[in-house]
Amino acid sequence: CGIVGYVGPQSALDVVVAGLKRLEYRGYDSAGVAVLADGGLAAAKKAGKLVNLEKELGDRPLPTGTTGIGHTRWATHGAPTDANAHPHLDNAGRVAVVHNGIIENFAVLRAELEERGHTLASETDTEVVAHLLAEEFSVTADLAEAMRLVCGRLEGAFTLVAVHADAPDVVVGARRNSPLVVGVGDGEAFLASDVAAFIAHTRSAIELGQDQVVELRRDRVTVTGFDGRPADVRTFHVDWDVSA
Ligand code: GLU
Repeated sequence: CGIVGYVGPQSALDVVVAGLKRLEYRGYDSAGVAVLADGGLAAAKKAGKLVNLEKELGDRPLPTGTTGIGHTRWATHGAPTDANAHPHLDNAGRVAVVHNGIIENFAVLRAELEERGHTLASETDTEVVAHLLAEEFSVTADLAEAMRLVCGRLEGAFTLVAVHADAPDVVVGARRNSPLVVGVGDGEAFLASDVAAFIAHTRSAIELGQDQVVELRRDRVTVTGFDGRPADVRTFHVDWDVSA
């Protein structure tokens, strides 16, 4: 339902949780976060309100990192449980993905992954993306390219945002029939399903077009089509007031 991503000098967890709070008004049934820290990836997720996630983070703090993603879920595939909450990870725990929308052909992809030896831990349509990204990244070593290749195999409407422990200081997003906006800061960058999530940090924004992938680094935002061709990017200024 709500998506936030961050790369920059700040604590990603703080930025992401604050961003998720700005999106709370949309309604959701679970929430979760993942951060890259100390060469690894750490995640926490909880069914219920954001306070449940915050309590979990208080009881079991994540290491501090400056690259992270977060999600509030409105379940479509699988009950609103901790296991089905996003982010979803691959079996090695190196890649984390959050998703809005529906992946129509997930059952076929899931069966193929299981045949190749993957173990899926949730009932969601989303989790296949984490496993597919891990496979593609192991070949390309490029998260944006892995995302483009995976998106080419997905049917349905989706916004996807992912991080990989072997791609520090990178957040990748993709969009088909579902909104995703980039916030461009000074030495930092944001991704969100709604500008409300990052308006406190920057009002310089890029709306992703249909079938586009974005790679966020601290000082660079790169947008391509799913086919890898560079996309025209238009930065706009968010000058309306965002309440709540
Ligand atoms: N289809 C996904 C799920 O059920 C994403 C739902 C959403 O958009 O929050 O987990």
